[in-house]
Amino acid sequence: MAASKDFYEVLGVSEKASADEIKKAYRKLAKQYHPDANPNDAGAAERFKDLGEAYAVLSDAEKRKQYDQMRRLGAFGLGGAGRRSSAGSSRRPGSPGSASGGISFDDIQGFGGIGDIFSSIFDLGGRGKTQTSSSGGPRKGQNVDYVVEVGFETAVKGGKISIDVPITEECATCSGSGAAPGSAVKTCGECGGSGQVSFGQSGFAVKRPCPACLGRGTIPEMPCAACKGRGSLRQSRKIQVAVPKGVDDGSKLKLSGQGERGAGGGPPGDLILTFKVKEHRFFRREGLDIHVTVPVNIVQAALGTRIKVRTVGGSKVVLKVPAGTQPGTRFRIRGQGVEKGDRVGDQIVEVKVEVPDTLDDSAREALEKFGSAAALRH
Ligand SMILES: [Zn+2]
Ligand SMILES: [Zn+2]
Repeated sequence: MAASKDFYEVLGVSEKASADEIKKAYRKLAKQYHPDANPNDAGAAERFKDLGEAYAVLSDAEKRKQYDQMRRLGAFGLGGAGRRSSAGSSRRPGSPGSASGGISFDDIQGFGGIGDIFSSIFDLGGRGKTQTSSSGGPRKGQNVDYVVEVGFETAVKGGKISIDVPITEECATCSGSGAAPGSAVKTCGECGGSGQVSFGQSGFAVKRPCPACLGRGTIPEMPCAACKGRGSLRQSRKIQVAVPKGVDDGSKLKLSGQGERGAGGGPPGDLILTFKVKEHRFFRREGLDIHVTVPVNIVQAALGTRIKVRTVGGSKVVLKVPAGTQPGTRFRIRGQGVEKGDRVGDQIVEVKVEVPDTLDDSAREALEKFGSAAALRH
């Protein structure tokens, strides 16, 4: 069987070639290697066939895009195709770039067409990941990861929230079979009913869900119209979540059995929530401590005062600011931070001393007196 060839090399064009350049290159080479012009030349016939294969893919924008993706991944045994020397002598034996053991286009076609193989890699990749057991047996549903944004105070105090999570659910119309109601199902010819196909080079074969039957092992004679034969639909599920007290940015919560439905009677997967906590205009959080900044004026800072400070718990605490408090001084109110398990943080109050930007006559006079009094003391 012919080893895999790089389609761009075959046509002698760069991977950035325009559709027009590809067409021109194909026409020129096809004329040159046409069997009519090269009677009894097996090499030319082979070359002509390669040109046809290469052109069929590269002249179709969609197929070309898929081929490019595949090529970048180093599949087809090309090992980063463009870099491979066409001179053969520089090939490392056994490397992904070596000609032996690569998959030819013919092999790929045997699986039901190049498009199917691509879709099995690019579309089913996520869903097929954990479906390693053969089809038919019970399989646990996929876990679903979801990021939930919660308000600052909800995160601190806990509370109930309602979220809409996009989840791939079994299609209710066909109960997941993918077959239109009443239509018969036949064993998949591509995988012989195993639901899996092997793919890759010898010693490096990877099993993937069969692209023809989507890993089910069977093919409906008439696909279900609701899910287009996939057996599943992406739906939004409303879920009530009890947010635990003290969750922080990045905290995770597992809701068992709230993930995707299992196949073949298998248990459902889990829903893994990651919390993202919104900012608060007044409170900031560092671990279990809550930080706030409270303004006082220069007289309050100099003479001392009592200020009322809101806590994250909703109460108000009176804080004594002693005379001579400097800007940036921090006060700790014990036990008014975030509660988590049996631990609780503090509230840290930073004093910001504000200097008045306008003064009326009497305030100015008073400050001037203060100024001369302070000057006398120094
Ligand atoms: Zn359906
Ligand atoms: Zn199949």
